[in-house]
Amino acid sequence: MMLPPEQIVIRPPVEAYSVLIPITGGCSWNRCRFCGVYKNIQDYKIRKLDDVLRDIKISGQHHLNNPYIFLAGGNAFSVPTDYLLEVLNEVKGNFPFIKRISTYAKVLDINQKSDEELKKLSKAGLTICYIGMESGSDTILKHMKKGQTSKMIIKEIPRLMTAGIHASLYIILGLGGKKWTKIHANETARVLNAVNPTFFRFRTLNIMANAPLKEDIDNNVFEILSPLEVLKEERSIISQLSPSLTSALRNDHVSNYTFVQSNNIGKDRERILEILDDLITDPDVAKLKHKNLKRM
Ligand code: SF4
Repeated sequence: MMLPPEQIVIRPPVEAYSVLIPITGGCSWNRCRFCGVYKNIQDYKIRKLDDVLRDIKISGQHHLNNPYIFLAGGNAFSVPTDYLLEVLNEVKGNFPFIKRISTYAKVLDINQKSDEELKKLSKAGLTICYIGMESGSDTILKHMKKGQTSKMIIKEIPRLMTAGIHASLYIILGLGGKKWTKIHANETARVLNAVNPTFFRFRTLNIMANAPLKEDIDNNVFEILSPLEVLKEERSIISQLSPSLTSALRNDHVSNYTFVQSNNIGKDRERILEILDDLITDPDVAKLKHKNLKRM
């Protein structure tokens, strides 16, 4: 049975204590080969604006003091700008102590909004978008049917940030498998250096049973990295980052094999590399097995 659009399937870990307001159900793209979050679980649907506004009013009565709101759905940023502006205004009217309003967005969604629209959204209170960059490699992005190129990432993320909205980019360690681990690291570092996002966050490839990539893994066409190889890949990305990068780094996901973080990767790069080297040379880490999480 497909879940209704008001049911939230996923949210970022950092939004665990936020008020969650469903805006869309499912994902408007839903084609990424590594992702099974919504496939045969929830169709893409924009909720009725009146229903969303009512939910915000009710939530405001119960969680008046909460300063964090997450606009939920696979990519709530895909809804028309006027709709989103009404939602943001309603949030501000009902949550007097608001500090952060956030949402998931695809690079394609940003592409479909003008500079003017992005500025209006920023002014209305949208603080941060969580965006799946996944990799900087065009070979991997194409193979995984991500629907974006490195050129698009380099063009659209700075547009969002120039409008005043923070960008948090997800990178999936291991997304190139054993075959493409080197180009995944090199190209991801290249794009991060070009974009200097507000945040970048590592996740580790974790395949759910309904993800199309599962078949390639079962047939040994795609080889999953070991935890040690994942850490080496992360090290390779970080070692290639420019010291002038000011991005914050987070490893805030249960799928990861390290939780190192930094508020300024350019300044902390050597410290993070030392921590990763300690892990990489630890004999116990070499024995670790891929976590293969059933739930995240
Ligand atoms: S990874 Fe994101 S964009 Fe891709 S199908 Fe999953 S939810 Fe949609």
